[in-house]
Amino acid sequence: MDSIDSTSLHGKVVVVTGAGTGIGRATAHEFAALGAQVVAVGRRPEPLAETAAAGGSRITPLPADVTAPGAPDQVVDAVLARHGRLDILVNNAGIVRSAPLGAISQATLEPQLATNLIAPILLTQAALPALTTARGVVVNITTSVGQRAWPAGGAVYAATKSALELLTRSWAVELAPRGIRVVAVAPGAIETPIGEHSGHTPEQSERIRDWQIAHTPLGRLGRPEEVAWAITRLACPQSSFVTGVVFPVDGGAVVA
Ligand code: NAP
Repeated sequence: MDSIDSTSLHGKVVVVTGAGTGIGRATAHEFAALGAQVVAVGRRPEPLAETAAAGGSRITPLPADVTAPGAPDQVVDAVLARHGRLDILVNNAGIVRSAPLGAISQATLEPQLATNLIAPILLTQAALPALTTARGVVVNITTSVGQRAWPAGGAVYAATKSALELLTRSWAVELAPRGIRVVAVAPGAIETPIGEHSGHTPEQSERIRDWQIAHTPLGRLGRPEEVAWAITRLACPQSSFVTGVVFPVDGGAVVA
C-alpha cells in the first residue's frame, strides 16, 4: 500500500466546481499542493484566475455555469481534451437563497435546486465513463445543517444538501462495482463569502455568524483550509476503503 505522503495525487486529474472562492478555492490549492492537476470551475473568470494564479501550472480555470444546459458534458469534454483523464470530481458549487415557508418563490427555489442538487447529478453522470476508467472518486459538499432542522429560511437549502447526502450513499453502493468511491463532506460554519453571495447585508451576516459561533462547540468559525484538508484526504488513495460516508467538518455543531 502507498505510504501517506505529499506525492500521493501526482498524475491525478481533479475537477472542483465553485473553485473561485471559499472552500472550493482552498480545495483547488490543496489538491495542487498534493501534486494533482486541477480544473477549477465557476461562473466568474476573475476569481478563477486568482485561484489559478496561486496554484502554479497545476490549476486550469474553466469558466462555466454548472446549471447551464449542456454544461456538464462541456466541462467533462474540456477536462478530457486537456488532460486525457478525470480521477476526482468535487461537487462544491452551492448557493443559499433564504426564505421561510410562505415566502418561497420560484426565484428562491429553482436556482438552489439547480445548483445544489441537479448540477451535481448531471455532472457526476457526465463524468461517469471517465471516473469508471480511472476507478475515481466523487466528493459531494453538503452541510452539517442537512442533518438537522433549519427553520426560518434555510430549509430548502438544507433539503438540497440532505438530498445530496442520500445520493452520496446511494451512488456509493451503485458505483462500488466500478471501483468508484463516493463520499460527502459536511461543513459547519466556515469563514467564506457565502453570506455575501446569498444577498445578506453585513448586519445579517454578523448576526448569523454570532449565532453559528454560539452553536459550535469549538467556539469559532472554521477555515476553508480545514474543509479542504478533509476533502483532499478522503479523495486520496489512502482512503481506498472509505465510501458512502458523510464526514462533518463543523467544530462539533452537528453532535451538540
Ligand atoms: P462561496 O464562496 O460562495 O463558494 C461557492 C462558489 O460556487 C462560488 O465561487 C461561486 O462562484 C460558485 N458557483 C455558484 N453557482 C455556480 C454555478 N451555477 N456554476 C458554477 N459555479 C457556481 O461559498 P463556500 O462557503 O465556499 O461554499 C462552498 C460549498 O460549501 C457550497 O456548496 C456550500 O453550500 C457549502 N457549505 C458552506 C458552508 C459555509 O459556512 N461557508 C457551510 C456548509 C456548506 P461564481 O459565482 O463565480 O459562479
